[in-house]
Amino acid sequence: MISNRGVCKKGGLCDFVGVADHKDAKVEVCQRCGQRLIYAKSKGGRVDNMQYLADHLRDTLQPHGATATLFYQTYGLDGVKRLRDFVAKKQYKLAQKEEWTEMRRELRRLGRRGLMVTQ
Ligand SMILES: [Zn+2]
Repeated sequence: MISNRGVCKKGGLCDFVGVADHKDAKVEVCQRCGQRLIYAKSKGGRVDNMQYLADHLRDTLQPHGATATLFYQTYGLDGVKRLRDFVAKKQYKLAQKEEWTEMRRELRRLGRRGLMVTQ
């Protein structure tokens, strides 16, 4: 679903950034055309997710499937490389985190057996 509010006056899709996060509303402005969106928050402090996603289609585009054409129009061919790098970095960090968790688990196990030498 594409929202009219997500279509940029400068062409393509708007690129919103948050400029204010109040208790009752969230304000975002397009970095390209200056369009300002205000999202009223519910009592729980949440914004209307369906509207938010429709306005931020730019952030959910994929280089394959139904949004592929829009993805390439928005990010260009270089976008795929940047997306791959982003995912690779994320996976690397996740793998590192798992490695550390495993190492700590092993140290605790050795500690319980009294096999760990402490200084
Ligand atoms: Zn815009």
